[in-house]
Formats: sequence, structure tokens, C-alpha cells
Amino acid sequence: MTAATQNAQSGVHPASPERYDVVVVGAGFAGLYALYWFREKLGLRVRVLEKGGDVGGTWYWNRYPGARCDSESVYYCFSDHMPPEILQEWTWSERYARQPEILAYLRWVADKLDLRRDIDLNTAVTAAHYDENANVWRIATANGRIVEAPYFVTAVGCLHAAHLPQFEGLERFQGRWYHTADWPEEGVDFTGRRVGVIGTGATAVQVIPEVAGVAEHVYVFQRTPNHCIPGRNRRLTPEEIAEIKRNYPKIWQKMRQNRGGFPFDPATRSALETPPEERRQVYERAWEKGGLAFTQECFNDLGLNEEANRTAVEFFAEKIREIVRDPNVADLLTPKYPFGTKRPPLEHGYYETFNRPNVTLVDVRTSPIVRITPRGIETADREYELDDIVFATGFDAMTGALFAIDIRGRGGVSLKEYWAEGPRTYLGLTTHGFPNMFIITGPQSPSVLTNMVVSIEQHVEWIGACIEYMREHGYDVIEATAEAEQSWVDHHNQVASMTLLLKTDSWWVGANIPGKQRLVYPYVGGLDVYRAFCDNVAATGYQGFRLQSRAAAHA
Ligand code: NAP
Repeated sequence: MTAATQNAQSGVHPASPERYDVVVVGAGFAGLYALYWFREKLGLRVRVLEKGGDVGGTWYWNRYPGARCDSESVYYCFSDHMPPEILQEWTWSERYARQPEILAYLRWVADKLDLRRDIDLNTAVTAAHYDENANVWRIATANGRIVEAPYFVTAVGCLHAAHLPQFEGLERFQGRWYHTADWPEEGVDFTGRRVGVIGTGATAVQVIPEVAGVAEHVYVFQRTPNHCIPGRNRRLTPEEIAEIKRNYPKIWQKMRQNRGGFPFDPATRSALETPPEERRQVYERAWEKGGLAFTQECFNDLGLNEEANRTAVEFFAEKIREIVRDPNVADLLTPKYPFGTKRPPLEHGYYETFNRPNVTLVDVRTSPIVRITPRGIETADREYELDDIVFATGFDAMTGALFAIDIRGRGGVSLKEYWAEGPRTYLGLTTHGFPNMFIITGPQSPSVLTNMVVSIEQHVEWIGACIEYMREHGYDVIEATAEAEQSWVDHHNQVASMTLLLKTDSWWVGANIPGKQRLVYPYVGGLDVYRAFCDNVAATGYQGFRLQSRAAAHA
């Protein structure tokens, strides 16, 4: 079957397509940066196709109450690689910006850099097929457009495809229900209502205190507790903003060299080799400081050694017992698995919320949800009557949003088929059999284990340099070799196996989605190490890739 026949059969018709140099899917941080970089630095004709009604990506969809960033706002924004006014003219109000502020920022960037003229909103991409003969990606949208380009870049976000567990009876529920990842734009008023929140991940930890403040009663359906670190949010002062703005070039340099893309000072001492009293002080200081620095700045063996990690687990247990008055509730809220093997949420009054008379913690680990009834939620031991249900049940992370598009490479092979046993990538950026396709913050890249914006910029810039190199050298087809891909997959798995991540069920290992391959999805070797790998590949003429000119590809 020819590529054209396959395309015709699957709905990607080549009739009068629009043509560009690059098509980017998604207009969140990644899509906006890609558009800026490819258009302004490389002079390419770029088209960005975005499903949402505005730019923003994650920050467009996740508008649930309490949504804010767990990375500090002054570091969770575009860097000094953008025009200087982007960093200098925008001023963040709080240590962790709320979702409306981040969305306003992204809208402002889009306007300021005149990005909107190359973005199509309300344009969901349904299929992207590589046509080998023409060396183009042919992209179909839900509203019937066909767009072609030699380069196809996915910027679909790691956490986009919402996971709604298949509970029996939801369709008969007589109240209102919402998933946090697709929240009504007009907001939801929970005043005086009985609300059930399913889930206690980073999202729920933000939602629950907000809803508890207005609802008549909140029932929190918890399967697994998390190690929640105090965020210690506060307003930023004009003095500290000015100081940060002055120092941005240095700060960015530091973040680019940090394993997580943060301006942290990674610990150099071991928890086990530190005397207990001193160890406690280290944890206390990190607890008081608040924020994700806790994960890097305490000890260097927490991610590798279970005994070391237990010291952190014990510290959290103590803290939770100090805050939560009911010892049974405190115990239920205390994780028993290694710290850092699930993404630790930042909390803003989360534990205190369980001291409120209008909040009940329901342990669905011992008494699982059996069904949704017309009146509420039925667990193995009773029914909870509810007016509203909030599903804070997370995402089919890292692969879900990619598989939602019918992506097909050489020979019509679909990405979903090719990754049936788990993602296979070279550098998390490319995959064999899918020439000229680049995945921004894909599986097997550091992505969700880092400050996303720093990872995004690294990826976009690497892709940009690669396309430039190809143009300079007369190449127009680039494809990861099967061997290079295998060696990256092996390296990725080997580094992952040195950590404790596979010991715990988490979305990082795909355990939240029934039937999903249980393996570590993000690259755990660190953004600094990863960056060096990528730089080396580029410096050695794109080692591990087969580069061709189209004439040669046809030969
Ligand atoms: P999540 O971490 O996957 O949490 C989903 C929650 O739903 C978990 O508590 C899970 O329990 C529970 N759940 C799922 N299926 C269930 C079922 N059938 N029955 C009972 N409980 C069920 O998702 P999330 O909270 O949306 O967070 C995902 C990621 O998004 C975070 O880890 C973070 O990276 C990112 N995020 C970032 C921010 C930020 O920076 N501002 C905020 C929110 C989220 P189990 O743990 O037992 O599976």
C-alpha cells in the first residue's frame, strides 16, 4: 500500500493542503517557545495548531480552584534566551503564581512577540502521517484541515490526557461532576454543597483546601497519601523582584546546569552519614524554607538508598502527626513508601484542612469505591451522599496525549503500535521510523522531573540547531537509527533501575492507568547529564541519526 493510499484510508487526504516548514502541535509553554525560536531565530514558516480556545496549554485547561504552579514563578517562565523585555517587563506577584496569572503571562508573551498570527486555536489535530515519497508530514485536524510540513513537532504536554477512572454508574449520578483537567471556564460554586474529591495527588492537594473553605462538607476519597511539602507561598517584594531581575543571567546559567532545572544547591552529604540531630535540623530547615528544594537540598542518597530514604519518611510522619489532630487521620495521611517515588505535592494548608469539622478523609485503599450511585459514591462499606464529585484523578501521562493523535511514520506504522511495549526513543526526542518528527519533553527525556520550562527551552533549541545543521548541509531527512534508539532505551532503563522509583506505583511509572506498561517514563539521569548527551550528539554531527538528502532518500 502506498503512503497516499494509507493516508486516504485513514482520513489524511492530500487534497490542497496548506504548506509550512514546521507544524507544531500545542500552544502551551513548549509550542509558544518553539514558534518563537523557529520563526525568529531560524526564519522558518511555522504553524501551531492548538486544540484549546486560547494559548496556555496546561494553564489553559487546568483552571480548577487552587491551581497554581509548584515551581517558583520567577523561575517558571521563559528565560533570557527570549527578548530581554519578556523577563524584564513581566512581574510575578507571588512565590507560586496562580493559574490565572500564568495564563495571563502566556497570553501576554503571545501578544508581545506577535505569535498569535501563526497559531490556529480551536484546532485539534487528529492525525499526522509521514509521507515517505514526498518527505512531508501530513496533518489532519478535527475541523477538516490538512496541513503539510517536512518537520512535525509535538508540544502536546506531558500531562494533558485526563484520566477518568471507569467507575460504574457515573452516568446515573444526579449531581454535578468535574475532572480537574477540564474545568469549566466560568468556574464552579461549591458554596454550601456536599462535595466528594477523588484523589490526593498534587492537584487534589491544591483543590481540597479551597473547596473546604466554602463547601458544606468535603469527603476526600484517598487511595494513597503523598509526602506534601509546605509551599510557604507569599507575595514577592519589589526589592526581591529587582534583585532577581538583575541576576537573571546568572540564575539561568545555574538552572541550566542543575539536574532538575532549578536554582537549587544539591546536597553533597548522605543522610545515613549525618548524625540524627544534625539530620533533623537539615530537614527542619528545608521544611521551613518550603518548596521543591526539599527534594534536592537535604541529602544526596534519598533517591538511591532505602535506609537513607526512611529518615525522610519518618520526618514527614512526625510533621503530619504534629499538624493533624486526629491520630487516625494523621496515620492515614502518612505515606509508608519511599519519599520522592511519587511526585511530592506542595501544600498550602492541606494538612490543616483535615482538622476542619467539614472535612472527612475516606480511606478507599481499605474500602474501595464500588460504584457511583445516583446520590453519591458507594464504597465497600457505605454510601456517601454528594451534590458534586471532583475527579482529581490525574492523567495518562507522557504518552496519552501523543497516542490521542493517530501518528504514523514510515510504512504507516503507528506510534502506538511501535511503542506497544513502552516508549522507544532516541534522547526522548525522536523515534526510529518517524523521520523529521520531534517530541518536546517526551518520555525518556527529563521532562516532568524538572522545571518544565528549562527542559522545554533545551529541547526546542536542540531541535532548532538540528534543523539548521540539516539545512546547512543539504539534508532534509533525519531519523534515529534503531541501534542508537536501543542504546538510549537501555541507558534510560539502566539509570532508572538504580533509583527507588519502580518500588512505588505512580504515574511516573504508568501504574495509574490500567494496562499501561509499568516502566519509568521520564529520564532520571538529570537534566544536566541529559543536556551534555544532547550537546555531544549535535557536536559529533548528529551521531545516532541517519541524515539524508531527499534525492539520496529516493535512491
Ligand atoms: P495524580 O498525581 O496522578 O493523582 C491522581 C490521584 O487520583 C491519586 O491520588 C490517585 O491515587 C487517585 N486515583 C486515581 N484513580 C483512582 C481510583 N480509581 N480510585 C481512587 N483514587 C484514584 O494526578 P494529579 O494530582 O493531577 O497530578 C499529576 C501531576 O500533575 C503531578 O504529579 C504534577 O507533576 C502535576 N501537577 C503540577 C501542579 C503544579 O505544579 N502546580 C499541580 C498539580 C499537578 P493513587 O495515588 O493511589 O494512584
